[in-house]
Amino acid sequence: MTDALLAHCRAIVGDSHVLDDQAAMAPFLTDWRGRFTGRARAVVSPANADEVAAVVRACAGSRTPIVPQGGRTGLVLGSVPDASGAAIVLSLRRMNRVLAIDPANRTMTVEAGCILYDVQQAALEAGMLFPLSLAAEGSCTIGGNLATNAGGTAVLRYGNTRELCLGLEVVTARGEVWNGLRALRKDNTGYALRELFIGAEGTLGVITKAVLKLYPQPKAALTALVALESPRDALRLLGLLEERCGPVLTAFELMSEVCLQLVATHFPDLPRPFPVRHAQYALVELSSNESEELAEQLLESAIGAALDADIALDAVVATSVAQTLGLWQLREHIPLAQAAAGKNIKHDISLPVSRIPDFLDRTNAALLAAFPGCQLVTFGHLGDGNLHYNVAPPGGSGHDAFLANQAAVNRIVHDSVAQEGGSISAEHGIGALKRDELARYKSAVELDMMRAIKAALDPLGIMNPGKIL
Ligand code: FAD
Ligand code: ZN
Repeated sequence: MTDALLAHCRAIVGDSHVLDDQAAMAPFLTDWRGRFTGRARAVVSPANADEVAAVVRACAGSRTPIVPQGGRTGLVLGSVPDASGAAIVLSLRRMNRVLAIDPANRTMTVEAGCILYDVQQAALEAGMLFPLSLAAEGSCTIGGNLATNAGGTAVLRYGNTRELCLGLEVVTARGEVWNGLRALRKDNTGYALRELFIGAEGTLGVITKAVLKLYPQPKAALTALVALESPRDALRLLGLLEERCGPVLTAFELMSEVCLQLVATHFPDLPRPFPVRHAQYALVELSSNESEELAEQLLESAIGAALDADIALDAVVATSVAQTLGLWQLREHIPLAQAAAGKNIKHDISLPVSRIPDFLDRTNAALLAAFPGCQLVTFGHLGDGNLHYNVAPPGGSGHDAFLANQAAVNRIVHDSVAQEGGSISAEHGIGALKRDELARYKSAVELDMMRAIKAALDPLGIMNPGKIL
């Protein structure tokens, strides 16, 4: 059975693009955090949508599960196969071309395996901006970004990946190619099929191409780091900046002193911007389409007002590209420093922004009572109400045994999230890791509708089974 399917796949994509020996497959089977290694029958890498469709039809014939895979930077075990060894991994890595740019329509058409960084660069070379930006941009793919509806650091101004996509080409679970590559900003012609595939984590079909929205390249982007006493003050600062700067405010990231200490420990070469320690920091970015002077004036007067109102304790405004990069590196190295420190229990949650301070007070206290000395590594996209709320063992590193508390920690955090009307996954998705949590917190009505959609679009249940539902 195995041989017939793999021989069929080889005939479709070429011998060298079907891997089935263990050593060659190994890099495709382990998740980014190294928490899980699955098994697969083969890793198949098609060159175009027709080849993807033919592989899907071959798999459908033998009811073989398919795990679509992009850059494998997802954090919820969505792109790695399970331990059964029954699935094939369908890697989009060969489908990595930028196909077209339409400057007047401000759109770009790309293949799904394009690395996000390459998409950003292609936009830049055309004098425009593709605003999706996240720490994994050097290896994540646009297909993975779409399949997880990725967020990142510019959501406040430009929205999630969903808001940056106008059209898709998708290979359905039946192995048909759906050409929905429309470049329209208005299109009310029935059900919004595109939206179903975005955020579906490869459970409904394989995204093979996308039409993305581009924006004018800002003339100036200014970054500041503001020291604060508490998340409550961070919220006040956010309100002040939104009032004074409007859409010029592009990013508002929160990070605690614990996060910066972690970065300092594992990346000692990165600068520490303040001579003394503060409890919290907001990384703020303004970008202006008019001029550098205007952005500077706006940022300086807003920060001045925040200092006068005792909202901010101190602030540094980056005055060079190197300084800007240094401030952003502090933020972007937090997940990397956490990975270097060892395993921890991660939560990617969202809440109404107004509820965040109370949520933190209550949840921090509950966790410290249940797990004395545990380290709370809290950072994230405060402007979007999205926190990465991570719990590390006492001392902050080592002690893999702490992971045995995962279920109890999740219960405290996620119950608290639910109590505030929040979400247990803001940007990373559900994958296999949060599937049981999803079932716990979604209503039966909502789960039934999701299952009905899955059954309609993937009647054989071969698309990334065991993920989300
Ligand atoms: P993969 O990990 O390969 O796949 C992710 C999911 O999408 C899987 O379920 C997979 O089956 C599916 N999939 C992949 N390609 C396709 C396709 N073509 N068609 C259908 N399904 C597909 N996320 C954020 O939202 N914001 C952040 O700020 C952020 N920061 C991160 C920082 C780091 C250091 C890391 C490691 C991850 C971060 N992430 C963040 C997680 C984020 O989900 C991924 O970086 C990215 O969106 C996934 O892209 P990928 O190509 O690696 O997808
Ligand atoms: Zn994030």
